[in-house]
Parts: sequence; structure tokens; C-alpha cells
Amino acid sequence: MIWNETIECMDREEMRKLQSIRLKRVVEHVYHNTPFYRKKMQEMGLTPDDINSISDIVKLPFTVKQDLRDNYPFGLMAVPMSEIVRLHASSGTTGKPIVVGYTRKDLSIWSETVARSLYAAGVTRNDAVQVSYGYGLFTGGLGLHGGVENIGGTVIPMSSGNTQKQIQLMHDFGAKALACTPSYALFLGETIKESGLPRDEFQLKIGIFGAEPWTENMRKEIEESLGIKAYDIYGLTEIIGPGVGCECECQNGTHLWEDHFFPEIIDPTTLEPVKPGEQGELVFTTLTKDGMPMIRYRTRDLTALNYSVCGCGRTAVRMDRILGRSDDMLIIRGVNVFPSQVESVILEMPEFEPHYLIVVDRVNNTDTFQVQVEVRPEYYSDEVNKILALKNKIAAQMQSVIGIQPEIKIVEPRSIERSMGKAKHVIDNRKLI
Ligand code: ADP
Ligand code: ZN
Repeated sequence: MIWNETIECMDREEMRKLQSIRLKRVVEHVYHNTPFYRKKMQEMGLTPDDINSISDIVKLPFTVKQDLRDNYPFGLMAVPMSEIVRLHASSGTTGKPIVVGYTRKDLSIWSETVARSLYAAGVTRNDAVQVSYGYGLFTGGLGLHGGVENIGGTVIPMSSGNTQKQIQLMHDFGAKALACTPSYALFLGETIKESGLPRDEFQLKIGIFGAEPWTENMRKEIEESLGIKAYDIYGLTEIIGPGVGCECECQNGTHLWEDHFFPEIIDPTTLEPVKPGEQGELVFTTLTKDGMPMIRYRTRDLTALNYSVCGCGRTAVRMDRILGRSDDMLIIRGVNVFPSQVESVILEMPEFEPHYLIVVDRVNNTDTFQVQVEVRPEYYSDEVNKILALKNKIAAQMQSVIGIQPEIKIVEPRSIERSMGKAKHVIDNRKLI
């Protein structure tokens, strides 16, 4: 199902023409209306006349999160505040919150891109969608909300939390789709199982999960636990919120809505574009937003892009699963470790619950690396030897995948905190030193 076929299946050359026109327009807009961008361009000796096609984008300066903090709260708005009809702020996973503003037109772009996302995942106007992302300054709740209304589906604006009630209403209202973080989806699956409500009394078929990195193994786990198909939705506050892109029925890469959000992949050290298909840092330019456009915003998310036509018929570029943010990467005894690699190993092994906590510390000038996991009841044993064998098995697997062996700590069932929003998988005590 394709919400906007003209755009989503547009011929590549046509798309580049459209992107070129829009880039020129947005550069003129920020040059004349945002002193921050004008100054940056002037320092580089650039004027809007230097930008004539989308390939000229590489001439433009980058924008980073610190720029948003430095201009807190409204310094990057490109329209008078009287034009701004909505504010959001990032949930502040890292550092202080950043603030973004939307005009009425920006909100309609957002509901368009979320509608495309939901449609790609198979949600129609006949479906009830339970939105269990947080409502408020966080973009998740209201972002999904606008998209569901746009396609004419029925929104169940649950927000996150109140897990028992979530399940009751999901059951009673016949929600066909659930939108939340993958970690909350896991928690809901676990809670449904414990509730005793028969799974076949639920109408749930589709999950729209994002806002945090998750692995292919996590997808399998959630699909199995909730009896659904789970799709990856991607977005970030600075660019618009959720719905910058989403997976289609092929579940083979996240289509980015590149007529609105132009993606580039750069090498984070040289800042040069990588070769086509290579992994690097994702950078976005908003091509149509008026309120607070972003020029070459460095997301710090690591991924790669694939421009081949998808099995679904869309030409819209596909992004690989996000490996993680560059600032989520742990360097433990010199080895680069992404939490997503640890997750992948744990979820590969049926003996363990899909919940984990990584604890890193420094003792006597050496990094310590501990992974806490829960054993599934059916694999639990009172015999010390059996538990030891289990620990050795997972530790060896970590060694082979990550290149470094953690200490495995088996903790009590349900003692790892379940998350209702973005899960916290890492405690790095070294940062406190
Ligand atoms: P914060 O920066 O406070 O976490 P945001 O909600 O804006 O607030 O977070 C956006 C970030 O969340 C993205 O830059 C990315 O790191 C992560 N993210 C969002 N969606 C996904 C996804 N589908 N897969 C992996 N990471 C995601
Ligand atoms: Zn597709």
C-alpha cells in the first residue's frame, strides 16, 4: 500500500529535480531569515546563488546538536514566533533538551510523512492504532497521532505507562496496530502473557516501533511474543520527529521520505561523503520545513543508504538499521562495542530473556565490562554447573561477535528494569570519574 505513489515511486532523476528546487528555496529562506545560517554561509563565502542543484549541498556548512543548544530556545526559528503553532523538545537522552518549532505547514508535512510510514506498514483508515509513545514535548506521541488522523484511522491516544490498562484497552478496543518503542513492545508482550488474556482475542497485527536502536533478533522476539509483524520507524526531533522514514512490507530497509528530508552519509572524521553504500554518519537537510529548517544536520546515527528499487515498488531510498549513535559506542579496553551487538548475541540464545544491562567501570586502571541477563524459567537450574555452562556459552559468543569477553551476571527474573519509553541499556561508571 502506497500513500503517495507519485512521490514514493518517483523516478530518481525527477526526484533530484524536485530536491534541487526545494534545496534552493530552503537555502534562500534560511539565508534571509536565520542569522545563524547567514553568518555560517558568509564565513564560507557562500550566497544562495551558489546553490543551484541538490549536488551543491556539499558546499553548505554542517549543523550539530550544540548549535541548537547554543541558540536555545528559539534562535534557529526562521519565521516570526507568531507563525509557530507547536513546540517540541527532545527527550534529552544525551545532555540538555533541544527545542524545535513547527508552523501549520510543517505540521501538515509531518502528518503526511507519518501517513506514508503507517501506510507502508499496512495501516489503513479502517484500523485502530494504539499510540503508546509518550505524549507531550517528546515527538513520539503527537507525531504518530497526527499521521493516524491523516489517514483516517482511529487513534487510541494511550501515551506510555499504565501497562495493565494499555493491555485491557488494546484488547477491548480491538487495536490493529501498536506504536511505541521496541522495548515497551517487549514489556507489553510479557505483560499480556502474564495477564492470562488469550492472545487470539486481540486484533493486533502490526507494530510500528522506533525511537531507539533495535536489532533484527529483537524484531523476531517481538513478532513472536505479540503475534504481529513489526516495522521500524525512524525519526528525530531536530528533523521533524518520527516518520522521517519507515519500513515497508519487505522489512528490508527503512524508506526515507527524501522529498522532505534529504539524506547524506558522511565519514564522521573527515566529514566527506562516503562511497555509495558504505556505512557512516547520517546527515539530513529539511527541504520543505519553514519554522525551523535544518541544513546538513549531523544526526550521529550510523547507517548506510541503498538506492536500488525496493520489492514494494518504491524508489525512495532505503536506510539500513541504525547501528547506534556514535556517542553510544563504548570503548572497552580499546575495543569498540555497540550495545546493539550485545543485544544481538543475547537474543540469539533461547536460554535468556530479551532484557539486559551493560555495566562498564574502571578498576585499577582497567576497564571492567559486565553484562547482566535473566535466564528464562524453563532454562533455569539450581545446579551451579549448569548455570556456569550457560554463562560460559554466552560469554564465548560475545567474545566471537564483539571481540571482547564480558563478565556475565545472571540476575533474578524481572530484576532488569522494563522500559516504557527509550530503554537504558548501559551504565558507564567511568564517566563519573
Ligand atoms: P533524544 O535525542 O532525546 O533521544 P529523539 O526522540 O529526537 O530524542 O531521538 C532521536 C534519536 O533516536 C535518533 O537520532 C536515533 O538515534 C534514535 N532513533 C529513532 N528512531 C530509531 C530507530 N528506528 N532505530 C534506531 N534508532 C532510532
Ligand atoms: Zn519497500
